[in-house]
Amino acid sequence: MNLPGLGLTTPTPIQAQGIPEIMAGRDLMGLAQTGTGKTAAFGLPMVTKLLEIGRRPNPKSCRALVLAPTRELATQIAENIQNFSQGTPIRTFRVVGGASLNAQSERLARGVDILVATPGRLIDLLDRKALTLNEVLYLVLDEADQMLDIGFIHALRQIARLLPFKRQTLLFSATMPKQIEELATSYLKEPARVQVSPPGKAAEKIEQAVHFVNQGDKAKLLADYLARHPDELALVFGRTKHGSDKLMKLLDTWGFKAGAIHGNKSQGQRERTLQAFRSGELKVLVATDVAARGIDIPDVRHVYNYDLPNVPENYVHRIGRTARAGRDGRAVAFCAPAELGELRAIEKLTKVALPVIGGEPPSGAEANAAAKAAKAKQGNRQNRGAAHGQPHRPDEATKRPARRPSRRPRRTKAA
Ligand code: UDP
Ligand code: MG
Repeated sequence: MNLPGLGLTTPTPIQAQGIPEIMAGRDLMGLAQTGTGKTAAFGLPMVTKLLEIGRRPNPKSCRALVLAPTRELATQIAENIQNFSQGTPIRTFRVVGGASLNAQSERLARGVDILVATPGRLIDLLDRKALTLNEVLYLVLDEADQMLDIGFIHALRQIARLLPFKRQTLLFSATMPKQIEELATSYLKEPARVQVSPPGKAAEKIEQAVHFVNQGDKAKLLADYLARHPDELALVFGRTKHGSDKLMKLLDTWGFKAGAIHGNKSQGQRERTLQAFRSGELKVLVATDVAARGIDIPDVRHVYNYDLPNVPENYVHRIGRTARAGRDGRAVAFCAPAELGELRAIEKLTKVALPVIGGEPPSGAEANAAAKAAKAKQGNRQNRGAAHGQPHRPDEATKRPARRPSRRPRRTKAA
């Protein structure tokens, strides 16, 4: 492996502490901030171990299975592993929704060493008997807390039943809520736990701030911010697919080179847009949480939380799209009066009080009204959360996970 050629010179803490455990054959729970090289922490030892085994995979089988919550992340992981294993006989293949099932089945017929998949598509392929999981030696759940969250857990249970009992299981994430951690241990056997920082801690080099603004004034405010750094890549997170599209079109009419990516776009569109953003042809990418996890675009300098996320962990992942691999970056949260509860939940998780760089925190009366409205909204959400609990097979994380009751943001009294 030509590691220096891939920019891998000094191991990061998660690599230095995690790789020896993996090489020793232990299950692992690896927690480290965004952008600190978790992919190589599991990818390098896995490739090494498969090379040591030396045998070719049998038809319709794989020896290592990596599961990820979005198509884009699965693609990126597969590309990383292909780089790690360049010049070796190790073959990596990626299967995700939105692409031909037949072509994927045909490729699997020959067997692969490492299969990187989103859970929904993997189940489709298993249903068609395009492959079996009997020979899996290594299972990786990247973005583990999301993989174990309610939107994916049924799919994951279904997959886990088909995996050999004797296997090595590796979980990685930057966040790991308590409830999920308990669930995680049911997938691991006497795991080593490598925790580089408290889970939920944001990457150090992100300069974070909050700007208070009315919902209706957010677009103009965003344009002001974007105009200050016209040549730098900015990622903007919206809450809904429709809202993200609308915002992208508005930015476009204002002369910004903007694109949008969310679960309603075709896979081809999603890939083209992401590629245009990677290359700098697009300067602004408006996205839903489909782009919150794992995506690695080194040049992203700014993250705008145009709408605050309902789940505070997602804030950590969203802003973690900047300041990767030791770079720095800036993250501004746009907080409308009705989002005060979300803001407090984020501050509680990250243990950081976001400095205010603009606008006025809502007054006492406004904050109370907002808290009431948020509470009512939350009641609705919880009811819908129950519906989320029904078995379904998500292809990926475009749906908001149901809120876990005990993680409700605390309502704050007016400041
Ligand atoms: N990277 C690096 N040196 C390393 C490991 C990673 O420069 O030893 C780079 C890697 O190429 C990528 C970025 O750091 O551009 C983040 O890596 P990754 O996506 O694995 O981070 P994660 O968020 O999963 O921890
Ligand atoms: Mg990652």
